[in-house]
Amino acid sequence: MSSFTLELTPAHHELVRRAHAFAEDVIRPAAPKYDQLQECPWDVVDEAARAGFYNALFYADLIADPTGLSLPLFLEEIFWGCAGIGLTTVLPALALSALNQAGTPEQIATWAPEMFGEPGDIKLAALAVSEPQGGSDVANLQTRARRDGGDWVLDGTKIWIGNGGIADVTVVNAVVDPDLGTKGQAMFVVPRGTPGMEQVRRLDKLGHRASHTAELSFTDCRIPGANLLGGDDKLEHKLDKARRGEGDSAALGTFEQTRPMVAAMALGVARASFEYACDYASRREAFGGPIIENQGVAFPLADLAADIDAARLLCWRASWMAANGVPFHLAEGSMSKLKASEVAVRAAEQAVQVCGGWGYVSDLPVEKWYRDAKLYTIFEGTSEIQRMVIGRTLATEAAKGPQHHQLPGDHGGLSRRFGHGSLARARAGEVFMKLAKHAPQSVLELGGRLASPGR
Ligand SMILES: Cc1cc2nc3c(=O)[nH]c(=O)nc-3n(C[C@H](O)[C@H](O)[C@H](O)COP(=O)(O)OP(=O)(O)OC[C@H]3O[C@@H](n4cnc5c(N)ncnc54)[C@H](O)[C@@H]3O)c2cc1C
Repeated sequence: MSSFTLELTPAHHELVRRAHAFAEDVIRPAAPKYDQLQECPWDVVDEAARAGFYNALFYADLIADPTGLSLPLFLEEIFWGCAGIGLTTVLPALALSALNQAGTPEQIATWAPEMFGEPGDIKLAALAVSEPQGGSDVANLQTRARRDGGDWVLDGTKIWIGNGGIADVTVVNAVVDPDLGTKGQAMFVVPRGTPGMEQVRRLDKLGHRASHTAELSFTDCRIPGANLLGGDDKLEHKLDKARRGEGDSAALGTFEQTRPMVAAMALGVARASFEYACDYASRREAFGGPIIENQGVAFPLADLAADIDAARLLCWRASWMAANGVPFHLAEGSMSKLKASEVAVRAAEQAVQVCGGWGYVSDLPVEKWYRDAKLYTIFEGTSEIQRMVIGRTLATEAAKGPQHHQLPGDHGGLSRRFGHGSLARARAGEVFMKLAKHAPQSVLELGGRLASPGR
């Protein structure tokens, strides 16, 4: 297991530098146009592919980083540029996450490249779980998948699907055994153009307008048996376990993995809003001075500075846990998503407030960020659902103390060199202090070196 660290490597810094430059030079200039048009920003996605930010291998590399930091670092920068364009470029990665979790190695090799395409031939992917009668209550999904000979046939309706109807690959969650709730569901790959899959309508949204969102219908939608993610044997095994009251939901497993990713996206919008508000408040003058000199303006921004950092630390911890296979016993993924999404909404709202009348009109970008931010408390599990997930751990897990009590250690840590952090070392320090004024310089220097914290 890799240790959790805040020490970024040169590779991390380079990734952040490149992603930030792309967000600033390519994404931000395109953002107002696509916000207005409410269309998929194909040209920006193509540029992202040319910059190496839009392919399955890139995401595989980010996910393989044992520090867990590459993925949130990258996402924060891209979403700092524009949340809608960011979402369009990242939606295939959310679908890829479902494919990686549920699919066989052969299925991953087949479908992952189809989710991204290549420069000049861009492809898109979608993950279709939510339905009109309810997105939070995943046990109540109605889209059915039934076997017919060697095929599967899908029937039902999905809504709010990012890239829905324009995706080359749609990963669809459907019920195969309604008696088993979420454990009776499976994931299927539906390629674009499959008869029976239709885009009912494109949805007109408050924010994230550079991301295409649609309602999809499946009517006698027939797909080959090979498009069941994981294959027949794995499904039968899973259903058998579910009948014995064991096992997990495919969709819920994907959400747990992707929640720190969504937290990082929200942090991008939070940081953009916060930076803009601080800069504006330093330049805008009222009553003879910059408005930031008023505590009424500076204190809410100071709270945001602390809360954005706190949310980022939760996000990085959850990402590190996901990268190292540490289970989210205390719902750490949900904690990161809850805090980051709520601070994004607050930061964007505060940015509008700080900018006053200018903040309310589209001359400045903050009104767009205000509209964009709200999505984070709704999708990939609403704030209430995150609180439910955290709440469920309270009775059984919270009393065990914070996560570090359960992590396997190397039994070295702080105390490995000269007993750093131990009581014996503290006592030795006290004795050393008492003797210091009588000791020669050379002994003091040696003592100082031993006393300095180990790195
Ligand atoms: C722009 C956008 C993009 C999206 N992209 C996708 C996508 O690509 N793929 C996909 O599958 N889905 C997507 N979604 C759907 C999204 O995940 C759902 O909207 C979300 O899960 C909430 O479901 P719902 O809208 O049905 O709300 P409901 O489940 O109807 O909830 C309504 C309200 O009731 C609250 N509530 C519900 N149950 C409880 C409870 N037990 N206790 C307390 N409060 C409760 C909720 O928190 C919420 O505030 C997207 C949504 C949007 C808006």
